[in-house]
Amino acid sequence: MSPTASLSAVRFVTPFVGASIAWHCLAAAAAVLVPGAAPWALGAIVLNHVVITAAGLAPRSTLLGRNISRLPDAAVARGEMAITVDDGPDPEVTPAVLDLLDAAGQKATFFCIAERVAQHPGLAREIVLRGHSIQNHTARHRHDFSLLGPRAYARELEYAQRIVAQVTGQAPVCFRPPAGFRNMFLAPVLQRMNLTLVSWTRRGFDTREADAQRVLERLTRGLAAGDILLLHDGNSARSLQGRPVVLEVLPQLLAGLKAQGLRSVTLPQGLAA
Ligand SMILES: [Zn+2]
Repeated sequence: MSPTASLSAVRFVTPFVGASIAWHCLAAAAAVLVPGAAPWALGAIVLNHVVITAAGLAPRSTLLGRNISRLPDAAVARGEMAITVDDGPDPEVTPAVLDLLDAAGQKATFFCIAERVAQHPGLAREIVLRGHSIQNHTARHRHDFSLLGPRAYARELEYAQRIVAQVTGQAPVCFRPPAGFRNMFLAPVLQRMNLTLVSWTRRGFDTREADAQRVLERLTRGLAAGDILLLHDGNSARSLQGRPVVLEVLPQLLAGLKAQGLRSVTLPQGLAA
């Protein structure tokens, strides 16, 4: 790591991570200096690691770094919210999602898996041409993402940045890890790449819930300006009628937005001052 890179990593340490580092130093000093303290010091370090891991597995936690789960006040004042659609593009589901959004005159953000963007470049370009935004959802959507180190994080994210920029002409500015799971190595990589971690206000669990009404209820409970909602066009669960759940949820969700006078915007729009 270059001196500048280490400096920026230090600047990016949150109070929680800083306290964890101090906790480690204190435990190590106690283990060396205080007779009989070693087992207690080890216990203190293990406990700290449990808390760090839990923070990384809590998608909306800000303990490990900046993490946006609602649009800023300026967007709220404009009556904006954000629909986000993960894990595509999917040649069966995404075109139907785009048609529903167009019919309602609403915009969305697609957190695409770069491998799928490379497989379906025309579909990815269409998402952007129709006024939506594609953001970084890793290269391959690895299920062990929260166990990776800084180098693997950089590889995953850089590949996805490159592919999305090559295919659509627009480099992502937001990132979302698979299922929202990550660890303390992610924040410095995001900062170096100028990417903002974006989670969500509410999700419907539409990758495993077959009942579209329940997904809709989860998403719309207390729906208000500023909300960021999570849906999936890739890996979508099938409804009882055998259709991708997102396609049954979206028409009702979009009708609800209209009734409440809310406008779904892309994340770059919604995060703008
Ligand atoms: Zn995902």
